[in-house]
Amino acid sequence: MDIHEYQAKKLLADFGVIIPRGGIAYSPENAENKAREIGGSKWVVKAQIHSGARGKAGGIILCNSPLEVAQATDKLLGKKLVTNQTGPQGKIVNRIYVEEATDIKKEFYLGLVFDRSSESIMVVASTEGGMSVEEISKEKPESIIRSKIEVAVGMQKFQAREIAFGLGVEPELINRTAETIIGCYRAFSELDATMVEINPLAVSGQGQILALDCKMSFDNNALFRRNQISELRDKTQENPSEVYASDRGLNYVSLDGNIGNIINGAGLAMASMDMIKLAGGEPANFLDVGGGATPEKIVKAFKLISMDEKVKVILVNIFAGINRCDWVAEGIVQALDKIEINVPLVIRLAGTNVEKGNKILRDSKIKYIEANSLEDAANKAVKILKK
Ligand code: GDP
Ligand code: MN
Repeated sequence: MDIHEYQAKKLLADFGVIIPRGGIAYSPENAENKAREIGGSKWVVKAQIHSGARGKAGGIILCNSPLEVAQATDKLLGKKLVTNQTGPQGKIVNRIYVEEATDIKKEFYLGLVFDRSSESIMVVASTEGGMSVEEISKEKPESIIRSKIEVAVGMQKFQAREIAFGLGVEPELINRTAETIIGCYRAFSELDATMVEINPLAVSGQGQILALDCKMSFDNNALFRRNQISELRDKTQENPSEVYASDRGLNYVSLDGNIGNIINGAGLAMASMDMIKLAGGEPANFLDVGGGATPEKIVKAFKLISMDEKVKVILVNIFAGINRCDWVAEGIVQALDKIEINVPLVIRLAGTNVEKGNKILRDSKIKYIEANSLEDAANKAVKILKK
């Protein structure tokens, strides 16, 4: 789960990371008042969406008066921001963060992520703050400092200081920088995060080291024990289909292709996607309706897939082991009685009671193309698209 910048900042502040003064606003007036409350003479108006690279998309506006803060807020609220991370559909700005502007002397990059191959937490830092980590590793790979943290031991002070030295931080700022890095590490491990990123971590003209932009993601499987985090969820920033699926216990990931999938079992779903690729097609989603594949689940799956406008053909692939093909077939008939599908449908059933299942489908009024193997199903789906 991702959260907003202002939420991540608040969390990190509790772990000793210094952040600029700021406040959240839902209207231009609101933002103007916040700016006066915060004080100073320069403010930054920041669109809160679950994405980085907002600056380049016009989502970060530097302002010189409370009136300008109101105008910038008016411009951004309700707007769809398309960044290089949101995909072409963009994300809607519903909240604005108003922050006192910082006089930036230096910008660093600081990120913490899981490193699955070494089973540790990797701290990545660079002197080239402001750029994305992808850009840094392409353009200035030599500037990147990596430090591997053993989870069982936790981050040691010397490791944080080493990173601070590596960044070339001035001597009087070494301790503060190390405290910031350790604060991020503690937030990462104590809140079950999967990613913490401060970009930029800035040195201000007043010699402070502060987090100007923060991003945090969390492990969904740990949210049950992190109420403080799960309350921060903002569904308006998530893919609507994925929200629909997760609310209904369906295992769904939206993908870029146009062949919609309804499959029982994660392994079979993976194999089906491979087959679609092999046949020259592109899957529109991963969807595991579960081993049970009850009629209710099948109805929900068809509803979910038909929400996706990219889908030009639907492939249903069910292997009945514990389940039975005749039950599944009845589920499909019931589902298509309730939902209208406007794209061609390819169905492959296999396993227990497959003949009975296929007969139910053939005798129904459903318009579909029967397939008798996984390969056959993938080929037929791709062939329909090519026509
Ligand atoms: P992002 O584009 O989504 O990563 O949003 P950021 O919050 O990182 O803002 C983009 C850029 O705007 C930063 O890299 C900074 O260079 C600049 N910026 C952000 N906050 C301030 C600020 O308070 N003062 C100044 N001068 N620049 C800022
Ligand atoms: Mn940033």
